[in-house]
Amino acid sequence: MLWRGRRSSDNVEDRRGMSGGRIATGGGAAGIVIYIIYTLVTGDTSKLENVIQENASTQTTLSAEDQAAEDTMAQFVSVVLAETEDVWSELFQQNQMTYVKPRLVLFRNQVQSACGGASSASGPFYCPGDQKLYIDLSFYEELRSRFHASGDFAMAYVIAHEVGHHVQNLLGESDKLNELRNRLDESAFNKYSVRFELQADYLAGVWAHFADRKNHIVENGDLEEAIRAASAVGDDNIQKQTQGYVVPDAFTHGTSEERMKAFQNGYETGQLRNTPGL
Ligand SMILES: [Zn+2]
Repeated sequence: MLWRGRRSSDNVEDRRGMSGGRIATGGGAAGIVIYIIYTLVTGDTSKLENVIQENASTQTTLSAEDQAAEDTMAQFVSVVLAETEDVWSELFQQNQMTYVKPRLVLFRNQVQSACGGASSASGPFYCPGDQKLYIDLSFYEELRSRFHASGDFAMAYVIAHEVGHHVQNLLGESDKLNELRNRLDESAFNKYSVRFELQADYLAGVWAHFADRKNHIVENGDLEEAIRAASAVGDDNIQKQTQGYVVPDAFTHGTSEERMKAFQNGYETGQLRNTPGL
């Protein structure tokens, strides 16, 4: 992605220093896998606390080289956020609406949000309660090593997907989902939860459409990176990696194929009003 020299967002909150500029060694990735396997097998989330504590107790200082790489990544994230601000402000305006920009929190290991506490193990997320995106930059490395989705545009897709959740919040889709959650049993609700995630993938694709066709910051191979990332973080793929087989009922994000298609549809049409319904 041709991002260098482009505008950075004013809406980034850097909370990485709040844990002393330190990062977990190994405990991060291992903790994530242990936690996912444990909760999938037992449905028990109480052990999350242990994983978090384990992460906190195995800290080491970043090398100068890692620190520099992470700072470059922080700049990149800030530029991608600014690009989403420009695209969504314009699209909302075209549809007689006002785009309220979300804030993006960079954190390390653990963070507090209006949606509760979270660790890097939950991956990047959006909290509708405070309209903020939360990202631990180590996820970029995880995309490459665990999901085999490398490249800066893979990370751009992840950010655009979280911004997509913010757009859903502004459009009232999040309220619709909450209403369904209150009314339906878990397996019936799960279908809508998947559609909600696919909507966010579609919206990430709409952003990529403008990043490419209008702002010309998409390079050869970038779209493939995003599509590979969308495919890699599909629930079926994640489940195969963690438990060795696929249980469709437990899907909450959509399969690799569905996620890839949703992103591609958004990219091809570039239309907010064609967003698939819940
Ligand atoms: Zn999502």
